[in-house]
Amino acid sequence: MPLTGIEIFKLLPKTNCGECGVPTCLAFAMNLASGKAELSACPYVTEESKSKLEEASAPPILPVTIGVGPEAPKVGGETVMFRHEKRFENPPALAILISDTMDEAEVSARLDKCRQLQYERVGLTLKPELVALKADSGDAQKFGALVNKAKDSGCRLILMSDNPDILAAGLKAGADQKPLLYAATKDNLDRVAELAKESSCPVVVKAADLEELAQLTEKLTAGGIRNIVLDSGSRTVRKAFEDQVIIRSAALTKKFRPLGFPTITFPGEMTDNPMKEALIASMFVAKYAGIIVLSDFQGESLFPLLVARMNIFTDPQRPLATTEGIYEINNPNESSPVLITSNFSLTYFIVSGEIETSKVPSWLLVKDTEGLSVMTAWAAGKLSADIIAPFVKKCGVMDKIKHQKLIIPGYLAAESGGLEEELPGWEILVGPREGAHIPAYLKSWQP
Ligand code: SF4
Repeated sequence: MPLTGIEIFKLLPKTNCGECGVPTCLAFAMNLASGKAELSACPYVTEESKSKLEEASAPPILPVTIGVGPEAPKVGGETVMFRHEKRFENPPALAILISDTMDEAEVSARLDKCRQLQYERVGLTLKPELVALKADSGDAQKFGALVNKAKDSGCRLILMSDNPDILAAGLKAGADQKPLLYAATKDNLDRVAELAKESSCPVVVKAADLEELAQLTEKLTAGGIRNIVLDSGSRTVRKAFEDQVIIRSAALTKKFRPLGFPTITFPGEMTDNPMKEALIASMFVAKYAGIIVLSDFQGESLFPLLVARMNIFTDPQRPLATTEGIYEINNPNESSPVLITSNFSLTYFIVSGEIETSKVPSWLLVKDTEGLSVMTAWAAGKLSADIIAPFVKKCGVMDKIKHQKLIIPGYLAAESGGLEEELPGWEILVGPREGAHIPAYLKSWQP
């Protein structure tokens, strides 16, 4: 059972030094108990207390990392049922299924999809993370060869077989990648647990129902394995959905540790229709899969899934923001127009996209407005003349141009007089209110 705030407080140094970011150890203890703080924020906890507190401060759904390297996806680590309560932490990893009975050309085509299906959106690269390699042939050598081939796909690996000997063959080829082992069941638990422990790989536990699932995870955790992913075994949409909700709710609201792990789902085993499969997958993005294995990747269904995932897993309390600075668009020179906007990502991408479309070489100044759009930033006093002028002076754009003209968004028209006072010698031009009108406006630009 997790410790209460008071129980945690008893294990802290009680010096109230404030280095953890809150003024007292009691406040820190309360934050730790409610999942709002990380234990690592206090540098003075004794080792003895640390081991007790780590258990108490662990999120109710433990995080599990699949694979190695900076891009290895982390799943789980969730602390809330609903996004509006705080935020969802780790987006579900998307996997493509590859069987060792597929011919070489099909395997290569699927691995190529892992490398190629990547999309740029609001400054982020959206892409799938995992390849699920399934040993359907029953041939350990063949499976090992498939693992070897998939190792340089850029995606992390899931090794799938009920047979521990075949999993061992896959591990022999790819243990250095720390793949996810699928799956330990009641019939092979000890052997697969041994493999997971020896190779320090995460492991999926698969059961016929949630009761059996909890029993199996208790056995694994008693044996020192904590990197666990859950497969409730359900393969109908309704039952699988119910299981996801029950598992999340049991872990979060009942603090039931045996189900406090991320889950894996298989929409491709619930329908033969690719479009329905994508719809089912989107349901699991929202509620509450840790890993979603798709029978194939198709750009037309993968892209919307990736976008839905990005939208659901952004922090609702923090708007997406672009870095403050000078952006060069269409190779500007010293006579090119200078525009300014806010750093709300959507604003930046609309404005920069319209400038690009105009084909007019331009300088775009992006002012840090804490992710607020132009109107909101202006209303909040973050994009007024006395903020814009010092930014224009300091950002370095004056060294890049020989004119002194600044185009401000149409919604900032009221600031033009103030700006002319703050920026003596500059001509302040009021640009369009709507991004769509920027190309026509820029085409009439005269330095
Ligand atoms: Fe207490 Fe540690 Fe925070 Fe200092 S850093 S106030 S000792 S919890």
